[in-house]
Amino acid sequence: MNIKKGQINIIISLVIIFFLIVLSKFGTQSVVASFNKSNPINLQEVPILNYHKVDILNHALSVSPREFEEQMEYLYQNGYHTITPDQLMAYLKSGKSLPDKPILITFDDGYLDNYTNAYPIMKKYGFTGTIFIVTNFISKDERFMTWEQIKEMQQNGMIFGSHTANHKSLTSLTKEQALDELNQSRDEIARQLGKPPKYFAYPTGTYSGEIEDMVRKTGYKAAFTIEYGQVGADSDIFLLPRIPIFKGQKTFRSFFIRLNGAPVLEELGIIKN
Ligand SMILES: [Zn+2]
Repeated sequence: MNIKKGQINIIISLVIIFFLIVLSKFGTQSVVASFNKSNPINLQEVPILNYHKVDILNHALSVSPREFEEQMEYLYQNGYHTITPDQLMAYLKSGKSLPDKPILITFDDGYLDNYTNAYPIMKKYGFTGTIFIVTNFISKDERFMTWEQIKEMQQNGMIFGSHTANHKSLTSLTKEQALDELNQSRDEIARQLGKPPKYFAYPTGTYSGEIEDMVRKTGYKAAFTIEYGQVGADSDIFLLPRIPIFKGQKTFRSFFIRLNGAPVLEELGIIKN
């Protein structure tokens, strides 16, 4: 056979893309059949994207500004509407309607590039996002945003949640230390931004039943993991899954696959990591 490896790759890619187009027509429109105990309403699944850095560094957590813009443009042109965590909660708890093709865009850690690179692009498309900040890094470490930048973004509709005070895996701490991370970050955000944060993202994605309980008791209304998947009627609101968007050789293709295929492709073993 005289077919080059490159040609085989192209054929495989085309087959996957065809499969995804079919899937996106029927799959993501599917209604979750399971019922919420307190709220017997069929709920459509909602994707939550999870970014970290938006810059040109060769860093595993980075998406380049150009890639990020391509992704936002894709969402815009395909009729997606960004929503806030408040909208998501109202939807999950009481079935309050969401705009067509809702999507929640989140960022973890609070890197400076979220302000310098991601925020202007999101503004351009009229999108909003939610950023989980590590309060002891803010205005202290130059790789992260300042409170002034955060206040400006908040005034323009961006939402800020807690990602603890020091970004330690909560399961590696004592109960007292973990509680302190939750309280300290909540109090600092309340002091700086005028109201306590309602939402929380687990640093390094680690949690336990006990930690989930602490997050609830500290006053947070919902919490986000890095478990891969979309949110639906049967989601635990203190363990909300997200779709991580990382750097990749073909980031846009993997973005498209992740957005349209989650979580079916993962189950099929097509998407790893
Ligand atoms: Zn983090």
